[in-house]
Amino acid sequence: MLKGKTALVTGSTSGIGLGIARALAAEGADIALNGFGDAAEIEKLRQGIASEFKVKTAYVPADVSKPQETTAMVERAEKEFGRLDILVNNAGIQHVAKVQDFPPEKWEAIIAINLSSVFYGTRAALPGMLKRNWGRIVNIASTHGLVASAEKSAYVAAKHGVVGFTKAVALETARTGVTCNAICPGWVLTRILQEQINTRARTEKITPEDAKHAIVGEKMPSGEAVTPEQLGALLVFLCSDAAAQVRGAALTMDGGWTAQ
Ligand code: NAD
Repeated sequence: MLKGKTALVTGSTSGIGLGIARALAAEGADIALNGFGDAAEIEKLRQGIASEFKVKTAYVPADVSKPQETTAMVERAEKEFGRLDILVNNAGIQHVAKVQDFPPEKWEAIIAINLSSVFYGTRAALPGMLKRNWGRIVNIASTHGLVASAEKSAYVAAKHGVVGFTKAVALETARTGVTCNAICPGWVLTRILQEQINTRARTEKITPEDAKHAIVGEKMPSGEAVTPEQLGALLVFLCSDAAAQVRGAALTMDGGWTAQ
């Protein structure tokens, strides 16, 4: 379905971003990977996706909290593939602490990586998409873009910002072939969740498995975490012609979390 299209997924060296990159590649899109990690491991990932799905792949390094690096990342992807059709703003981090204990440098980092990066990437990718009158910008927000949890003030503020920014871009592009939407996942079993599972297991002296069930069950009525593959399938839908009038949406995939 996406043969001939090109996609850049930020933070795709692990977790949700990698699941999304694989789902887009499975539909035939050429893929630019971004994110931190061991250079040899990233090269293995890049080659693996290229040979498994018979698509072109590239690695476009950038710290997306930095505007110049993010612009250069988009330009490099455009140069590698001739153009950029799909941008998935996915890179993100978490820090958990009460507001009065929240280190300002962690606040700044979360706002820069989880929110400002979405602006930097979108700003760089939009001109090419508008010129060709086709594009898909998908921002990976969170249920925390719609509701809050204690001890996650910076993350909640950033993700609410992502949902608001998504709507503004959708309005600016409403009469074009470019759409901009957000996806709001509940818990997904990746490093971000694993760190919180480990902390909970340690502090409550329970097994990691029990900690996982406790954390997921507290928020998600389904009691089941979302998978990167399920998010990848939603992303593929948003890139389809059927989704041409899905604009400015914040689509939940959260096991009923925000239905409560
Ligand atoms: P992850 O830690 O597995 O992946 C994060 C990715 O972002 C990695 O590839 C990492 O290298 C990259 N990254 C971090 N800082 C970066 C920077 N400054 N520049 C470039 N890349 C950077 O985590 P994940 O769970 O896959 O998270 C992906 C996104 O999904 C995040 O935006 C996160 O907030 C969101 N999300 C996660 C969950 C969850 O339960 N895991 C739920 C809702 C939303």
